[in-house]
Amino acid sequence: MKTTTIDRYIESHIDESVAELSRLCAQPSVAAQNLGIQACAEKVAESLKARGFAVQILPTGGSPVVFAERAGKGDATLIVYDHYDVQPPEPLELWDSPPFEPTVRAGRLYARGVADNKGNFTSRLHAIDAILAADGELPCNIKFVVEGEEEIGSVNLEPFVKENKDLLAGDVCVWEVGGVDHQNAPVQMVGLRGICYVELRVRTANRDVHSGTGGSIFPNAAWRLVWALNTLKDQDENILLPGFYDDVIPPTPREKELLAQLPDMVAYYREEFGLTGFLKDIEDPLELAIQAVYQPTCTICGLTAGYQGKGSKTVLPAEASAKVDFRLVPDQTPKQVLAQLRAHLDAHGFEDVEIVDLGGNPGAKTDPDHPAVRLAVRAAEDVYDQPSRINPMIGGSGPNYIFQEYLGVPIISSGAGDSDSRVHAPNESISLDLYEKAAKHFARIVLLMGEY
Ligand SMILES: [Zn+2]
Repeated sequence: MKTTTIDRYIESHIDESVAELSRLCAQPSVAAQNLGIQACAEKVAESLKARGFAVQILPTGGSPVVFAERAGKGDATLIVYDHYDVQPPEPLELWDSPPFEPTVRAGRLYARGVADNKGNFTSRLHAIDAILAADGELPCNIKFVVEGEEEIGSVNLEPFVKENKDLLAGDVCVWEVGGVDHQNAPVQMVGLRGICYVELRVRTANRDVHSGTGGSIFPNAAWRLVWALNTLKDQDENILLPGFYDDVIPPTPREKELLAQLPDMVAYYREEFGLTGFLKDIEDPLELAIQAVYQPTCTICGLTAGYQGKGSKTVLPAEASAKVDFRLVPDQTPKQVLAQLRAHLDAHGFEDVEIVDLGGNPGAKTDPDHPAVRLAVRAAEDVYDQPSRINPMIGGSGPNYIFQEYLGVPIISSGAGDSDSRVHAPNESISLDLYEKAAKHFARIVLLMGEY
């Protein structure tokens, strides 16, 4: 491995790469608001073309997918999954610098999408530049699949991957997220929970009414919604949909062993989030780690009804709605949850509560002892100051099951994320030091793939 030459290139050209990342972050690409999507896809395509990749911007039912491939010396193919869309930047007033004006402060680059996941994308390009500068060619084939709807549940990715199985085929997939934990240890995240996201809507009249006129005799949409929500979960945290837990698979002994090697999060979470305690009165670190990711959830993400402005307004709301997400664990599926939710609401007399399906996907996991995971761990060895940790399942979600289901590939991680990255929140950022490390880690993954 010519890692010294490659590392030197990564270090000495880091400013160019950060400049490229900044240009990409200056281009808004908010899938939820259909803002800047096409323009950003074109920028991603240009960056890949500049590295000698054959690039196609392929249509889907929504945002296009940028697909790029470049052949290498070896037979193995590394798939890189990234996304060019970002979360909405709101609330804007909580940003210390504008979300689409990338700004460096104290060794960190701030911008919406810089950590999730434009920075990981450009750090990988930077690693490729370094390898090409050192060697003139890639040690393995590389295919980029860069989608534009990850932040809205990858709603069109499954049919796309299904239809393009041969085009996308490969041996190992590097996932969009990666980086270090709050103790700066690199982490391999090999499993992701699934998700089922719904909006529940109630309408009880054709318009809002004076609460003196209707309060005693008209149905109230806000109360209907609150009562319906109240049936979904009890105060002991049991989700009450019929059959909801039937397909939940508990962690394997090996997964528990890996969870036990992860840092104790009890004190960190308490302090970081100002908590007085955890649900179900959990105190034990391993129990907390298991409950945090091997249990499905039902989260009310938002509630809307009636008047919430200054002072009082005596009004009876005709409409109410709630956004609810269910984080799912293997082998639950969003399809089943939607059916269970409908059956449950109907059985409790809430036929009037409409369910709007806002997307979802099942969870999936890679065997933590897969040779590809070992490769990614080995690749991190001389980049970070600490050995890698393997996290068998993280709490978040993503379309990893699509790659595992249709392409049959193991999934590994690399990236510049850390516990200060504030993904999805105001002041999203990455550490420039970790950005450089992410590039070095990815370069080593590519080199090792040459022997895979
Ligand atoms: Zn995200």
